[in-house]
Amino acid sequence: MTFHSMWAELVPIGRSSASGGYRRYAWTPADLDCRAWFKEQAESRGLAYEVDRNGNQWAWLGDPDAGDAVVTGSHLDSVPDGGAFDGPLGVVSSFAALDELRARGTDLAKPLAVVNFGDEEGARFGLACVGSRLTAGQLTREQAHRLTDGEGVTLARAMEAAGYDPDTVGPDPERLARIGAFVELHVEQGRALDLTGDRVGIASAIWPHGRWRFDFRGEANHAGTTRLTDRHDPMLSYAETVLAARREAELAGAVATFGKIAVEPNGVNAIPSLVRGWLDSRAEDQGRLDAVVAGIEKAAGEYAAAHGIALDVVRESFTPVVEFDHALRDELARILGKDTGITVPVLGTGAGHDAGILSGRIPTAMLFVRNPTGVSHSPAEFAAEDDCVAGVLALADVLEGLARR
Ligand SMILES: [Zn+2]
Repeated sequence: MTFHSMWAELVPIGRSSASGGYRRYAWTPADLDCRAWFKEQAESRGLAYEVDRNGNQWAWLGDPDAGDAVVTGSHLDSVPDGGAFDGPLGVVSSFAALDELRARGTDLAKPLAVVNFGDEEGARFGLACVGSRLTAGQLTREQAHRLTDGEGVTLARAMEAAGYDPDTVGPDPERLARIGAFVELHVEQGRALDLTGDRVGIASAIWPHGRWRFDFRGEANHAGTTRLTDRHDPMLSYAETVLAARREAELAGAVATFGKIAVEPNGVNAIPSLVRGWLDSRAEDQGRLDAVVAGIEKAAGEYAAAHGIALDVVRESFTPVVEFDHALRDELARILGKDTGITVPVLGTGAGHDAGILSGRIPTAMLFVRNPTGVSHSPAEFAAEDDCVAGVLALADVLEGLARR
């Protein structure tokens, strides 16, 4: 199985003919087809296949109990109408890298494994990285069982319907104890590599990020008969705040997005009584992020006061910065630069990953493959096949460097 043929097998699974995007949600038939594909890849290579207590799939080359394993992999599920590369590129590249090592005849001192973490995107149950969170002990069985999809189906019921036992889910310290290093290859979700002209990069950190809810409360009234000067229109303060968010983010070199909004009463001929907007903001470091959000809050408060609007800001979620293991990161840079003398770019990212979840428990690192447009979570997501192959070879070099005798 070459990279090309593995890729071709996965391409049709869970693809919407209407949008061209992927709808591979956790525990749905499309996800189960991807899982069947993974199992087949493991078995056709004679790798030891297992599913852990949280439904993550593993394919082992060598004895899992030997310890200090070098593990690679990613995820196969998708966001709604996601691209083909986010997740699958890492899994396909992992199998291809294993094939490359076997072809090289590398004498391995450590066991290697490929993993497919379940429900990374959280598209169905609203929480990202469920498989790795459970394994790392960041999500309890009770919390997982309470997760519910848009149709009212619980995660537990969905796992059961897919033939998995939801009562086994929970922390898996024994499994983590077997792993010496985890390296996740992923399509880049930005244009940093395109701008530097490199095919492959190494991750430095995942930016701290959070979500804040802004409630602007004014006074509902008739859109035709209420004089402009008599209005308490929260939409105006909201609109000014969106512009302020853009300004603050630009000043700090951060990102800030109002991408979701709810309006009451939501009538075309009514001045709103409430505009609720959700801010997503991310920055390279905590200080910068705090400054951006404080700046946006301050501006929102001033605009609200000017229009007679009551403002409430609530932080709904927050994830601190994830610094990948420095020693492992430096080791990757050394391995990849060894023969070429080329310095591989090291870059931060604003997107979350299973590697970020696991980094609190085991040494983790990430490789990024160039994405010429930077578009991700969209059918337009793309990586050239040459770059994908360069990613496979880089991953093979890394696995070889970390696991060879
Ligand atoms: Zn991903």
